[in-house]
Amino acid sequence: MHLGSLLAAAGSYLDARAAGARWLVRMEDLDTPRVVPGCAAEMLRTLEGFGFEWDGEVLYQSTRRSEYREALARLGKAGRTFACSCSRKDLASDDDAGGYPGTCRQGPTKNGPTAIRFRVSDGPIHFDDLFQGPRTFDLADCGDVIVERRDGLASYQLAVVVDDAFQQVTRVVRGADLLSSTPWQIDLQRALSLPQPSYGHLPLLLEPDGAKLSKSRRSLPLDMSAVPQTLFSTLTHLSQSPPPDLAHSSIKEVWKWAIRHWDPRALAGKASVHLSA
Ligand SMILES: [Zn+2]
Repeated sequence: MHLGSLLAAAGSYLDARAAGARWLVRMEDLDTPRVVPGCAAEMLRTLEGFGFEWDGEVLYQSTRRSEYREALARLGKAGRTFACSCSRKDLASDDDAGGYPGTCRQGPTKNGPTAIRFRVSDGPIHFDDLFQGPRTFDLADCGDVIVERRDGLASYQLAVVVDDAFQQVTRVVRGADLLSSTPWQIDLQRALSLPQPSYGHLPLLLEPDGAKLSKSRRSLPLDMSAVPQTLFSTLTHLSQSPPPDLAHSSIKEVWKWAIRHWDPRALAGKASVHLSA
């Protein structure tokens, strides 16, 4: 976890707790080749160290492969999937900088390994983001999204949709980097007849100069010796206005104040926030 993921976790935690709702933790550990052993336990220890209290058991996506396969089969039966032989290079060379251009909709154009793509619906997807306001995306611009990678792993988009329904998630609060994933997820929910949660996308934490959070900053472990101070600055980045002396209170006191005073309106229309130099 780094400052950016702490901000997203804190925003979703506050949103849930201020509404008296449950807060769930899910480990997105599907990408087995990239999962670092011990990383999940470390993340939970960090959350605990920052005073987060989650409800129920942690859900590990690595245990859910058969559910993803089943959803994939349902999409296939409904005629909503097709095999795609395009490599990343094929698509990068395409002039169309937007989504997938539909190259393999009538069947794979090359021999060799294929991914499976979800054939998106025609027309716009509209949702009212809790923080970013009303949003409309044209699915044609988003393009057909991968639901099973060529290595056989379920994609993030499919897994999240299946698990949100399984965990009965009614509200998704996450970073604005996932705003553009939301139309695919809503279209997948419709295709699978799953309920649609509401969405809130929190501002992205950026470097003081507005650049993406640097790799060095992202790999910096959170300072566990200064938890109340770090939480205090996270609240400031979430556009809340904690009283200065709260930085010197206990972790419990910081959360108590933050839950009681959570003001989502302060985040309206904020897509990013800069770290102070
Ligand atoms: Zn293709």
